[in-house]
Amino acid sequence: MGQPLPFLQRFHGEVTACDRMQMFHHKPVTIWLTGLSGAGKSTIAFELERQLASLGHASYVLDGDNIRHGLASDLGFDKKDRRENIRRVAHVAQLMNDAGLIVIAALISPMREDRAMAREIVGPGNFIETYLAASVDACARRDPKGLYAKARAGEIASFTGVSAPYEIPSDPELKIDTAMSTPAESVAHIFSYLRDKCLMDTDCTVP
Ligand code: ADP
Repeated sequence: MGQPLPFLQRFHGEVTACDRMQMFHHKPVTIWLTGLSGAGKSTIAFELERQLASLGHASYVLDGDNIRHGLASDLGFDKKDRRENIRRVAHVAQLMNDAGLIVIAALISPMREDRAMAREIVGPGNFIETYLAASVDACARRDPKGLYAKARAGEIASFTGVSAPYEIPSDPELKIDTAMSTPAESVAHIFSYLRDKCLMDTDCTVP
């Protein structure tokens, strides 16, 4: 990656993080959903976004599959490209947090060191690593996109959980077993965390 040019300066606007928190009624954090394909990242991310919107909170889903149509369309699935994908998404999340939005990132992000990099880029105080736990077999039974069948037949290389590793988070802020809870329960779990940590006004409802 290129280094910032030495003559580039940063400009700082007059709208502060505090101003934005008052406007949006929440602390702009990044909820980073990690887990195997089929663990429920997209399902939970978009339901969380829907519920946040219904309460008047501005949030946005950065979904791994969607990102690969544009921002990361030049990247593949080897270790280096996955890391670059995560680096880009983390920078976008950080910018969106800066703008005041709650970001919900839904990426397999299988390697611990890549998630640690994302945490550093976003800012450790704003990063909520959320591990959606579900075994390979449970995900393969769901197989919403038919990818496990293809991966097991050898038609997809470097498929996480089948032919590429997934490193289980050692110390995530949240762990949700999606084989044991419904998507609605998983979203409720995340809401409880946000409320317990005072990251959102509980009474925020836009008419
Ligand atoms: P990912 O984004 O992690 O690849 P998806 O959200 O695309 O996963 O797919 C998960 C699939 O599993 C969906 O079809 C969803 O309806 C289904 N599913 C079944 N039970 C659950 C659950 N408890 N939580 C989340 N998804 C579930």
